[in-house]
Amino acid sequence: MSLKGYEASYYAASANAKQDYPELQGEISTDICVIGAGYTGLSAALHLAEKGYSVSLLEAEKVGWGASGRNGGQVCQGHNMDHADMVRKVGKQNADALWQMSLESVDLVKDLIAKHQIQCDLKQGVLHVAAKTKHNDEFKESVEYKHKVLDYQDIQYVEPSEVADMLGTDRYSAGEYWTRGAHLHPLNYALGLAAAAEKAGVAIYEDTRVQSYQTGQNAHVITESGRVNTKYILLACNGYLGKLEPRVAGKIMPINNFILATEPLSEEMCRRINRDDVAVADSRFVINYFKLSGDNRLLWGGGENYTSSFPKDIPNFVRKYMLEFYPELKDLRIDYGWGGTLAITMNRMPFFDRIEDNLFVAQGYSGHGVALATLGGKLMAEALSGSAERFDTFARMPTPTFPGGTLLRWPGLVTGMLYYSMRDRFF
Ligand SMILES: Cc1cc2nc3c(=O)[nH]c(=O)nc-3n(C[C@H](O)[C@H](O)[C@H](O)COP(=O)(O)OP(=O)(O)OC[C@H]3O[C@@H](n4cnc5c(N)ncnc54)[C@H](O)[C@@H]3O)c2cc1C
Repeated sequence: MSLKGYEASYYAASANAKQDYPELQGEISTDICVIGAGYTGLSAALHLAEKGYSVSLLEAEKVGWGASGRNGGQVCQGHNMDHADMVRKVGKQNADALWQMSLESVDLVKDLIAKHQIQCDLKQGVLHVAAKTKHNDEFKESVEYKHKVLDYQDIQYVEPSEVADMLGTDRYSAGEYWTRGAHLHPLNYALGLAAAAEKAGVAIYEDTRVQSYQTGQNAHVITESGRVNTKYILLACNGYLGKLEPRVAGKIMPINNFILATEPLSEEMCRRINRDDVAVADSRFVINYFKLSGDNRLLWGGGENYTSSFPKDIPNFVRKYMLEFYPELKDLRIDYGWGGTLAITMNRMPFFDRIEDNLFVAQGYSGHGVALATLGGKLMAEALSGSAERFDTFARMPTPTFPGGTLLRWPGLVTGMLYYSMRDRFF
């Protein structure tokens, strides 16, 4: 049975038992009010409560209802920006710190899962593969750079013949294998974080949409039926921010991405198309990514749109991407298809900021948020409790505003995105 109040998806249908959290009614007071209960907000709330603060966490829908409960579940080290580019932008010291924190973010996810005994099908291994042979050299150079410049050895270049063996297709070429990368059931991870946060003392409210807030001395947050008096406000709404905070809305662009889940595959089929049961992502601009679920379904992510609505027939919208690489799967039944909204930034690095003395934001993980949003929440908690250095290292990365700001960013983005996705197909 599908979890009530969530987008219909394989994840909602296979979710662990969930506690319901009340709607906020009336007035409360807490040290910190966190808005949005995805990984960012859940992690911030959990880490703050563990430090002894009183924390309220307000979620417009249900915990993990947003991207955190709908994503591909890939947990990988690194950033969307190369280390060498980061060095050019923010200097070597900051770039090194950002790289180290990306490693830490994956360990953090694993540690939280272990510490709070979250049942979320956690498995090891992420394989990035070249969708075109001309990407092979880039993979080789990228792995060499990590070995030599970053002294990071938990990544291997994979020859095309080995990729073919691992994935049962020669449509992909070379690969890079992140041996300490991981994959998981994203909604169950979010539900587990929520349970841990509540246990640590966080007051969680669902069906509680924040309508407005006031910062400064008498800071407070207003919802339809309630009010939170607070010292600090943390914004963790990511792709679902809407018009709540226009000062940071133009730093991100919400985009929709889609996933399907097939019927369960036979053991033999699983081993053929994913020999080592890893998470896979390819090098296309509009990425294809896939993995096996805990019950051996193929979860395939592919296709995006940039409008306010999802395609009517998501299974068929995504299926064509899957069949491009695995035409032999054409007879598989598709049991689920769903979409979610994530936020990207212009430079594809997360955007962290202290907008005012008592107003923080972390958003825009650009498809890398399972690990980085979990870390983002922890860094907000650190910053608020007096150690802002690591939060500031992210905040120092200059994040351009989308041309056209909040109102006119769409036409430019759509043209750009369509151009790159066409380039994927034809060049
Ligand atoms: C289809 C898809 C596949 C993806 N695959 C991957 C992947 O494989 N690996 C990876 O690392 N990342 C992936 N991502 C990205 C990742 O899911 C996100 O970066 C991450 O979940 C962001 O977490 P968050 O907490 O910042 O935002 P969200 O999880 O989106 O949470 C924001 C929350 O804020 C709430 N909210 C908004 N406005 C208000 C308000 N006014 N009042 C109260 N609450 C409000 C929303 O209801 C929502 O629950 C994917 C995303 C999608 C959509």
